[in-house]
Amino acid sequence: MSDARIKRVVIVGGGTAGWMAAAVLARALGPAVEIRLIESEEIGIVGVGEATIPQIRLLNPFLGLDENALLRAVNGTIKLGIRFHDWGRLGDRYWHAFGDLGLPLGLLTFHHYWLRSRARSDAPDLWAYSLNAAAAAANRFARLDRVGDTPLTGLRYAYHFDAMLYGRYLRRHSDARSVRRIEGKVVDVQLRGEDGFIEALRLESGETVAGDLFIDCSGFRGLLIEGALKTGYENWQHWLPCDRALALPSARVEPLRPYTQALARTAGWQWRIPLQHRTGNGHVYCSRFISDDEAAAQLLANLDGEALAEPRPLRFVSGMRRQAWNRNCVALGLASGFMEPLESTSIHLVQSGLSRLLAMFPDRHCDPALAAEYNRQTRFEYERIRDFIVLHYKATERDDSPFWRHCAQMPVPDTLAHKLELFRRTGSVFREADELFTEAGWLQVMLGQRIAPARYHPLADGPSAAQLDEFLGQIRALVAHAVSTLPDHARFIEQQCAAPLPA
Ligand SMILES: Cc1cc2nc3c(=O)[nH]c(=O)nc-3n(C[C@H](O)[C@H](O)[C@H](O)COP(=O)(O)OP(=O)(O)OC[C@H]3O[C@@H](n4cnc5c(N)ncnc54)[C@H](O)[C@@H]3O)c2cc1C
Repeated sequence: MSDARIKRVVIVGGGTAGWMAAAVLARALGPAVEIRLIESEEIGIVGVGEATIPQIRLLNPFLGLDENALLRAVNGTIKLGIRFHDWGRLGDRYWHAFGDLGLPLGLLTFHHYWLRSRARSDAPDLWAYSLNAAAAAANRFARLDRVGDTPLTGLRYAYHFDAMLYGRYLRRHSDARSVRRIEGKVVDVQLRGEDGFIEALRLESGETVAGDLFIDCSGFRGLLIEGALKTGYENWQHWLPCDRALALPSARVEPLRPYTQALARTAGWQWRIPLQHRTGNGHVYCSRFISDDEAAAQLLANLDGEALAEPRPLRFVSGMRRQAWNRNCVALGLASGFMEPLESTSIHLVQSGLSRLLAMFPDRHCDPALAAEYNRQTRFEYERIRDFIVLHYKATERDDSPFWRHCAQMPVPDTLAHKLELFRRTGSVFREADELFTEAGWLQVMLGQRIAPARYHPLADGPSAAQLDEFLGQIRALVAHAVSTLPDHARFIEQQCAAPLPA
């Protein structure tokens, strides 16, 4: 039997996706597989993507990265969640905090008890029961696995970081693990006659790079997956209408917030991401409802620190590649699809694509059954994330601009319509299989955007009123006490992971 093992992996692209792929594959596959990464400094990288979700931390032990050293290298800060402004109505504020809400009691999740209690006018809001939200509101942070010896889980966190520096950090790490980097521009993709597999890439320099498996991390252009293999793209703009962004750094401000801000604007929203050395800002908007000039003016008028550059324009179409794995090519990052950055899911999708690829790692025949399974799982993950992001636009009572009126009226995917109806009628939300966002995430956004369920679970009527008050009061007290013991976020960064001052 001939040896069909994959011996040569070629990665095209040196953005976050490319260097994450290089670092993870080098670690997992070892020296038996030669890994080459082609990137073009002339083309450059997108270089935004500064907010993450907690799963990114799983990469550190796998890659052997020390968290403090990483945060130091990327000017990183802590992210405990997202603070949403003006989404349900102008003036509204709510959190999508990572981590749990309260504690379950008996068979029921916490929120049903909270729904029962909120009939009372003096009921504290949902986020009094979220350690993450309470710590974020107080600008405090420490690594905390549990709250004392109670059943309450500690803080669940992710990072904000400088996207350029994160790529560079992984590159240094991958270089050390003998990934060969090739500087150059791919100008031609050679396909094999009999089955259309990619055989080799030709660079502008004339060099040819052959491989068994090709990882397309070439960004929006999808050089291999689309340019060569014509895989097709599913456009979701009718559900996610924003199609442009302006990104711009501004001076650091105090306090150093351990959370992202997502501030709704008249035709989109603005992000604020606090880093150690600056704040990352961006205005994501829908070009059908606002001009580029107006969008830039809104962004510049709403910075909380001095602008450090001109706004940088970016264009995108929310959607996904029809197949992320086609023949012997797997697309990751922007080459595989993009959903606007509202819930910071893109870098995570690179990571989950890589773990799927490793679980299904093929031989040189790239069995179509493996590719089909990979694509099925990828689609499931994308579609559930899409639904979650669409929820933020759909569940609005804003009618102060044509954009928000459009969003409130637009049809939504059936899967989301089902979740919404179930929640409205019963107060229940169920996480489907291993979809990314948890019940706690869905609940915070649904309740934060004023969806009022008609009832709660009948079992929540079990405890007496006094028992319920005591149960809720104890959780609030535990959360408040735990937060009071935490240090300031800025102090945590300064003491544990401050980047060296520029020379
Ligand atoms: C406005 C905006 C905000 C975002 N915010 C977030 C966020 O907060 N959180 C998050 O997780 N994600 C975010 N993202 C997504 C995130 O930026 C990307 O997922 C991430 O940067 C990965 O990009 P990439 O590596 O796929 O592509 P790119 O960064 O575009 O890299 C493409 C690479 O391919 C190379 N290349 C292209 N063509 C050729 C060629 N012909 N020859 C050789 N090399 C070539 C380029 O040189 C480059 O190295 C955001 C995206 C946008 C647009």
